[in-house]
Amino acid sequence: MYYDSDTVLYVNGRFQKAQDTRIDLYGQTLHYGLGVFEGIRAYNTVHGVKIFKATEHYDRLRRSADLAGIPFHYGSEELTQISYQLLKRNDFTNAYIRPLVFCGPNMSLNEPKEVSLMIAAWEWGKYFSTRSLRVCISSIQRPSPKSFRIEAKVTGHYVNSIMATMEAKNRGFDEALMLDCHGFVAEGPGANFFYEKDGVLYTPPLGNILPGITRNTIIDICRELDVPLEERLSRPEELFEADSAFLCGTAAEIVPIESIEGQHVNKPWKNSLGSIVQEAYQCIVMDKSYSYVIV
Ligand code: PMP
Repeated sequence: MYYDSDTVLYVNGRFQKAQDTRIDLYGQTLHYGLGVFEGIRAYNTVHGVKIFKATEHYDRLRRSADLAGIPFHYGSEELTQISYQLLKRNDFTNAYIRPLVFCGPNMSLNEPKEVSLMIAAWEWGKYFSTRSLRVCISSIQRPSPKSFRIEAKVTGHYVNSIMATMEAKNRGFDEALMLDCHGFVAEGPGANFFYEKDGVLYTPPLGNILPGITRNTIIDICRELDVPLEERLSRPEELFEADSAFLCGTAAEIVPIESIEGQHVNKPWKNSLGSIVQEAYQCIVMDKSYSYVIV
């Protein structure tokens, strides 16, 4: 599904066939979840193939490695160049790029010595299969920042995300909305969260969430378009009064939420602040001007 007999990967300085690649089954990442990764998108824009915010993603990858104690010495510019070459070799224009920094054989819990980098890419259309989401409030909380480097994109953290997603699906919902360790609204299992109330967009502040690159882009869009935005902690009860809401991330882009625990948001999506932001976001990733978007 993610590769076929022609697919090329980048692994430790070489481009090679995905199907010929072997990894060590005694790796620390496989056993203990100590690895870091990124999720990046490339778009076939009006100015050719562009990787959206490549530097920001690779800076976050390097920071994640640092926070997780994984020695990693590639620069963001070098990683960006490799990613463009990978797209070219696979003949991709619209693609999802997945760099993974993983640790070699080491069954101890000590600092990793042997560290590898692989970068894969595949054509990934829509992340969610539905156009708008029915979300539940998950009983699985985001990890405490006192237990994990929550701002790092560490492979093992995603056990928490998978548990929340499985619970949501088992309860008949499309997606989970997770609370932080103090019971405030935090984020989705793989996306940040915004909601609208009385003409203002609200999103949780940094501290208990992954600092999303899409979230940052949305904050910039709001500034530019004079959309009122506040970073604020909210209790889940407050969401039942929301006029609109959405999840956002590189893979998901901006996806409307239609209901939270079965309670519908007040406004149709097309009349929401989120839909204005969504239109602007689509223009930015496609390298088009969005000055015509009127608030
Ligand atoms: N939160 C979590 C837990 C995520 O996994 C992601 C996806 N990387 C996001 C938020 C959104 O981050 P970004 O916009 O950088 O993709």
